[in-house]
Amino acid sequence: MHNHDKMIDIEEALKRILKDFVPLESENKPILSAQGQILSKNILGQFNVPSFDNSAMDGFAVVSDDTIGSTTQKPSTLKIIGSVSAGEISRQTVKKGTAIRIMTGAAIPKGANAVVPFEETDELDRKIILEKEITQISIRSETKPGTHVRLSGQDIQKGEKVLSAGTALQAADIGVLASLGYEKVDVIKRPKISILSTGKELIEPGGSISEGKIYDSNSYSVAAAAINAGALPTMLGIAGDDRSEIIQKLEMGLDSDMIITSAGVSVGDYDIVKDVLSDKGKMEFWSVKIRPSKPLAYGNLLRDDGKNIPLIGLPGNPVSALIGFELFGRPAIHKMLGKGETSRPIISAILQEPIYNYDGRKVYSRAVISKKDGVYYAKLTGHQGSNLLTSMSKANGLVICPSHIPVQASGESVDVQMTDWPEEVF
Ligand code: AMP
Ligand code: MG
Repeated sequence: MHNHDKMIDIEEALKRILKDFVPLESENKPILSAQGQILSKNILGQFNVPSFDNSAMDGFAVVSDDTIGSTTQKPSTLKIIGSVSAGEISRQTVKKGTAIRIMTGAAIPKGANAVVPFEETDELDRKIILEKEITQISIRSETKPGTHVRLSGQDIQKGEKVLSAGTALQAADIGVLASLGYEKVDVIKRPKISILSTGKELIEPGGSISEGKIYDSNSYSVAAAAINAGALPTMLGIAGDDRSEIIQKLEMGLDSDMIITSAGVSVGDYDIVKDVLSDKGKMEFWSVKIRPSKPLAYGNLLRDDGKNIPLIGLPGNPVSALIGFELFGRPAIHKMLGKGETSRPIISAILQEPIYNYDGRKVYSRAVISKKDGVYYAKLTGHQGSNLLTSMSKANGLVICPSHIPVQASGESVDVQMTDWPEEVF
């Protein structure tokens, strides 16, 4: 028996896969399309944001001393010498006894040190009476220096570290980059994943089906899950159970960061992917102590230039394929993205029906997780056959039954690896 013939624990399998992956190089791309990608350099404030003192309110820019003791009964009256709106710079200087009408975001004019909002003046009353431009304004409240003035550098100081390398860019981060004038940003590349389905029974969706044939669903579910994990999938299509056809199709994927195949990895007559892996590169292992997804192969294909391309050979059964991707493909993609080896959130839930573990593997059962009075409950999505893809599409989590526990009884607290976190679970 070869070393790679041994059925290994999931922890060891994951470790042996992840050792082959490192974060990819950086790319410089438009800020909006970098959403979700990992910043590869620190971002420093190139200048103060805001870069000039400006008004937080619509009102009047004044010398605060002019407002001392002002009340509705005893207002102080100032001469309006001009107005300034956002995007403009006033050429005038506010001196004692004068005010400049100012809009939110406009630069504070020279001489002024506070803004009195319209609501604290008699502007409305004057306008109603005069029905024309007003030349004077009465201030109805005392305004301290700095009131409603947004100081330069309040948001970002020049030279300050604003975003750290390693940050996954989210909406507000992209806004921060834009506010600093960045059009493009350096982020770690998205991994390119090539996906191949094997099996002579497979037909491309859209094609006509005859008896004994089935549509290829694995390519699509795995590609969708890869996109969801942050990768860029390429569809290599379908290869029949033919060695040279599989090799030919796999060669088209040798320019990617990882190849994912499905089927052809168990012990049937046509399980060729394993052989190809052994012949054209290196087989690491091909059996993991989990259910479903036990016949999962991992290895590397050796390219002519000496580079090794990692290959995950998922089992053919549709649920096994997706769970295998979830447990191994997704973490590998996250590592290449620079996200670290993050797994999905694991929560505790009360199991609502038993799970039987008859052969000492770690079991992942598809379940619907709901929340009632602050407690999570896990209900299985019916029959758990690894061929029943709808049992996966109904689920939002995987109940984990440890390998040494023969039965996880109803009412027990179990770990659930969430695959989705819809609002209604909260
Ligand atoms: P295998 O690993 O080749 O023995 O396949 C196991 C089961 O998965 C068989 O019932 C296959 O027909 C099915 N299967 C294999 N590949 C796919 C695929 N791409 N889409 C849907 N079912 C598949
Ligand atoms: Mg097959």
